[in-house]
Amino acid sequence: MENNLVLESKKNSAVTKSTKIAVAHGDGIGPEIMKATLKIMEAAGANIVAEPMEIGEQVYLSGNSSGITEAAWDTIGRNKVILKAPITTPQGKGYKSLNVTLRKSLGLFANVRPVNALHPFVKTNFPNMDIVVIRENEEDLYAGIEHRQTEDVVQCLKLITRPGCEKIVRYAFEYAKAYNRKKVTCMVKDNIMKLTDGLFHTVFKEIAAQYPEIESNSQIIDIGSAKIAASPRQYDVIVTSNLYGDIISDIVAEIGGSVGMAGSANIGRNVSMFEAIHGSAPDIAGQKIANPSGLLNAAVMMLAHIGQAEIADKIKNAWLATLEDGIHTADVYQKDISVKKVNTEEFADAIIERLGRNPKKLPLSSLSKGSGTIEIPEYKRRNEEKELVGVDVFIDWKGTDPEIIGKGLSEIRSHNLKLKMITNRGVKVFPNGLKETYCTDHWRCRFVAQDAQIKTKEPIYEGIEYEQVIALLSKLHQNDFDVIKTENLYEFDGKRGFSLGQGE
Ligand code: NAD
Repeated sequence: MENNLVLESKKNSAVTKSTKIAVAHGDGIGPEIMKATLKIMEAAGANIVAEPMEIGEQVYLSGNSSGITEAAWDTIGRNKVILKAPITTPQGKGYKSLNVTLRKSLGLFANVRPVNALHPFVKTNFPNMDIVVIRENEEDLYAGIEHRQTEDVVQCLKLITRPGCEKIVRYAFEYAKAYNRKKVTCMVKDNIMKLTDGLFHTVFKEIAAQYPEIESNSQIIDIGSAKIAASPRQYDVIVTSNLYGDIISDIVAEIGGSVGMAGSANIGRNVSMFEAIHGSAPDIAGQKIANPSGLLNAAVMMLAHIGQAEIADKIKNAWLATLEDGIHTADVYQKDISVKKVNTEEFADAIIERLGRNPKKLPLSSLSKGSGTIEIPEYKRRNEEKELVGVDVFIDWKGTDPEIIGKGLSEIRSHNLKLKMITNRGVKVFPNGLKETYCTDHWRCRFVAQDAQIKTKEPIYEGIEYEQVIALLSKLHQNDFDVIKTENLYEFDGKRGFSLGQGE
């Protein structure tokens, strides 16, 4: 499998060659926590060469709406590994999210966020929780393809791809294997989104079957999120799509009591980026009291990723020992538990003093005990047979009675294409709709070659030529129907590639 992607180095790869990393010092508290993090890494003997790059607020304010300069792109291109402090996105419209730009442009497909409780040293209701959320990072509703289609209706395309699902689900199982995790849980909403979330779930089941040694299960995202918040102990690794992952990773970080402490990794084929999950905290910037733990934990993940897992463990264990000793920054200081309130620099120095020491109560960091190697096979397209069987025509119509538009469209034929049904916001309103259904100005009108013959549950469609669709659109236009978009209806290897209307 020589084309496969090997994402992480072997645990025992001798630290002989230094790894170049691009370092963004960020905004707000960014420079303060980056200075502390680099100092700790240097003291621990991390074999890295840091090249600074400029991104963030000053770049935005200089008129660059992307927040990143060409020189910074070059630095990333040379280094391939990024350690990034939080940046400030200026208020106001027109500034693009730099994080989304970096994730998508660099193909950083996996967002990895481990959160474990540090009870009693950091307050949490769930002393034993230890969860890694692996979130798909490039697609889903975050593709950002949105349109206003009528006066009343806007839409956002939810794009889920098979290669995207395969990559992230494989990554989750490989991560579990590499870091001795026991269970992977998939979270989807495929009872409603049968094609998009259904694909994610299908791929999960296919890939889970290849890892019989790892327990796997699936949950619907709504009850899954509720259960995370109520009993996080039952979770180990969670894999999910972009939007759900965005939400549950914040829930996990919050109930772990450590929003300011968690780091995250954004992993891609060629480039990877490591950062704290918190923002630039402008309210405390310049006061030198920020907790550098989030960025330090990101740096620990980075070191494990670049084959310096032993140094990563050394730093993490010294950090745990520091927390156990009650040396705490203001954000996690608790009167009855903490021994000393320290500033950013003092906290970094306390960690450096403890390098080589292990925690006594909190679990030992054991990144170097995992294999550290994650392999993602090349995607192989299946080359299924695709057949056009109809078209959904979306029409902007300001009337309210579905019978009127239904009858009007029923009279329009193109070759053997004819109206099968109309839905409004997904609910069938023609033929035989209910009076109670509220209708907007956005009508989805399904044309197929012949009425579905219902045998068992699945309608059977006849293949059509695209010319028939073009002719249909032309007739609709001649008859003054305001066509706003079309979606072709396909079967793939004889299987329906579109959802039925509710009530169809
Ligand atoms: P924030 O995470 O910066 O701050 C939320 C609260 O947590 C504040 O009270 C802050 O003081 C505190 N806090 C955060 N990190 C801390 C730390 N390390 N030590 C001690 N206290 C800490 O969130 P926000 O206020 O919503 O956002 C501020 C700015 O950060 C915004 O411009 C936002 O766009 C940006 N942001 C950047 C990133 C990133 O670069 N990855 C992520 C989130 C937010």
